[in-house]
Amino acid sequence: MAGYQTFTTEDAMRFADEHSGLFGDHSKLSCEEFGDGNLNLVFRVENDKGSSLIVKQALPYARCVGESWPLTTDRARIEAEVLITHCKLCPDHTVEVLHYDAEQAAILMEDLKDYRILRSELVAAKQFEHLAPQLAAYLANTLYYTSDFALTGPNKKQQLGRLLNPELCLITEDLFFTDPYCNHERNNINIEIRNDAQQLWHDETLHAEVAQLKADFLSKPQALLHGDMHSGSIFINDDNCKVIDAEFGFYGPIGFDVGSLVANLLLNYLGHFGLTADTAAREQHQSYLLSQIETLWQQFAEQFKQLLSNECREPTLQNNLYQQRFMQQIFTDTLGYAGCELIRRTVGLAHVADFEHITDSTQRAHSERKALQLGRELIMQRHELSSINQLITLLRYLK
Ligand code: ADP
Ligand code: MG
Repeated sequence: MAGYQTFTTEDAMRFADEHSGLFGDHSKLSCEEFGDGNLNLVFRVENDKGSSLIVKQALPYARCVGESWPLTTDRARIEAEVLITHCKLCPDHTVEVLHYDAEQAAILMEDLKDYRILRSELVAAKQFEHLAPQLAAYLANTLYYTSDFALTGPNKKQQLGRLLNPELCLITEDLFFTDPYCNHERNNINIEIRNDAQQLWHDETLHAEVAQLKADFLSKPQALLHGDMHSGSIFINDDNCKVIDAEFGFYGPIGFDVGSLVANLLLNYLGHFGLTADTAAREQHQSYLLSQIETLWQQFAEQFKQLLSNECREPTLQNNLYQQRFMQQIFTDTLGYAGCELIRRTVGLAHVADFEHITDSTQRAHSERKALQLGRELIMQRHELSSINQLITLLRYLK
């Protein structure tokens, strides 16, 4: 940290210029800081021909709170390593990192200026048929090839040790699995659903299941996760989507990444009860989302199974029955973690635009109640549900 200093736009320009051949003689570079994220500085550096790159720098604290919430700048290393690994495994759907500087905790990466953030697009009821197939490919490849099915024991343990990410994991451990189930000061609860939130605090049966999911998050290093697979970490355009922002990455349970993404599609589904007044338009968008969730799971599972049968070199893990059980367990975890994401985005610290953009608070409460109800059902019934269609049936029976 000795030479670390918070970048000015000048510093970001110099950094981009030094570490890329893109700008040549840097007579006419311009730069703006435009990050809308919670934690880091994000700069766009552009030359006079319109070519641009992104510089992302980790601050020694969380940007949204300030210096009272110190946070390791080592998260930039984690983010760079996870993105570089994922990009090798799925180059089409991972943002490209061009350079990482440890001293400045800064990453130089591809500018996705021709893309838009998926969450805003879904809030505006935009639809993309390639969303689920492409993200299924991203998840299957990144998760399979960083698992014990693909890596040798010593190699995986070496990677795992370098990417423990204790500080950022602790944030997830607290925000995801602890706060929503007690009267925590960090929670952010719409007054109209306070009673529903309170029920969560006293629901011992639910707490036992959440404890199991948290214990697995802490102690099931199955694969190198992205760790923050929500629709704000995905850029999309008419042809392609790309994943960014992997600073929460670590070796954890595969269902955590898959479940986070499924839940974010479900949050959008539930948000549109309040976002889209026109019934026909709403139902059309909601049925689009359901078909995307179905495709996401089916194509993810199909590709993962294919990789298991074609690529697994570890003789013990080639066992067919074991592999079937493994897939079922990823599905169960996916539902459980999706349930946790629905609940924590509704009553926890970090909310989502899919609900926050509902201007009428009673309508918002209607969507939020459904999210709590569905979240609980997914967590409680995850061992009984055996297919993605059953999740969709569950949705239809929400009150
Ligand atoms: P944080 O980790 O602080 O949340 P993000 O990685 O989510 O930061 O980035 C914050 C914002 O910066 C994104 O929402 C997006 O608008 C912009 N951004 C980040 N990376 C890129 C990129 N590679 N190309 C274009 N815009 C980007
Ligand atoms: Mg982030």
